[in-house]
Amino acid sequence: MDERDAPTDSPDKPAAKAVEAQSGAMVPIANRAASELTRLCAQTRVAGLHLVATPIGNLGDITLRALAVLAVADVIYAEDTRHSGRLLSHFAIKAKLRPYHEHNAERERPAILAALENGESVALISDAGTPLISDPGYKLVRECLAAGHTVDSIPGPSAPLAALVASGLPTDTFLFSGFLPTKTRARKARVEELASIPSTLILFEAPSRVSDTLRDLADGLGDRQAVVARELTKLNEEFARGRLSELITDFQNRDRIKGEIVIVVSPPLPTELSDADLETRLVEALNEMSLRDAAKAIADDLGVPRKRVYELGLTLRRTTGDAN
Ligand code: SAM
Repeated sequence: MDERDAPTDSPDKPAAKAVEAQSGAMVPIANRAASELTRLCAQTRVAGLHLVATPIGNLGDITLRALAVLAVADVIYAEDTRHSGRLLSHFAIKAKLRPYHEHNAERERPAILAALENGESVALISDAGTPLISDPGYKLVRECLAAGHTVDSIPGPSAPLAALVASGLPTDTFLFSGFLPTKTRARKARVEELASIPSTLILFEAPSRVSDTLRDLADGLGDRQAVVARELTKLNEEFARGRLSELITDFQNRDRIKGEIVIVVSPPLPTELSDADLETRLVEALNEMSLRDAAKAIADDLGVPRKRVYELGLTLRRTTGDAN
């Protein structure tokens, strides 16, 4: 399936012994997990819509409850049945599998509601992670609730939280903003909206766009601390940490960026700089360089948005009549 199934190097002898000893110790744990799973399967066939989180790269991250709910479901809806079919067959789950994605959702919802009306247990999964998080299911949940059906969540892996908790950035308040718009104007406008939010920001991005996005973020948010979390839970998992400017250099120097990516950006500096502070710096800098260069230098240095410094410079120019 993914890199998690790639062959590992053959273990040397002491390592092989350690593995043997460990696998002995694993027997009671495996037995306990099996009986817990059996108990859950006997309990879990509940009529309703079950939103089941599945691994984001490492099959070991499936939960016992996810296995139980999927095993006893009358039907499992998945975004991509071929992809999810591989997950289900890995765990020998044989439930009926049907597609639910943006192109058939409108058509499929009445069938799902009818199944729930008949007292069936319906599970919804996405290709990876938690359904509805930048994945289909929101309208389905709304309609199921409006019709009075049970909707529950079988929690588990989700890329935004996996990235946040290992980012080293504040976790007390955070904003998940999915994918930024791809069109430049809408994208810059969204980054501008995000600039004033006093929280850690979490974004999804495609590998082909990561360098551009880091640049847009640096322009709009200032040179904040950030983390690019790549290939979470897989063999080549990576957390690249640094200021946005450092990450830009790092990623634009890479040949080819592969894998799935979450970007986490720190909140604005707690000691927000006042306009007066910035104007003092501007007056000094404008003696030596153009407004454009001064805005960039100050923004990079203080971690404030370049646009803010540039606009303050324009106002300063108008009020002082400085032609620079
Ligand atoms: N619902 C999913 C979840 O809860 O994680 C997210 C689905 S969204 C369509 C897919 C995006 O999630 C990817 O483009 C990437 O930004 C992020 N993602 C998913 N798996 C990832 C992983 N293993 N490592 C890093 N990012 C991942």
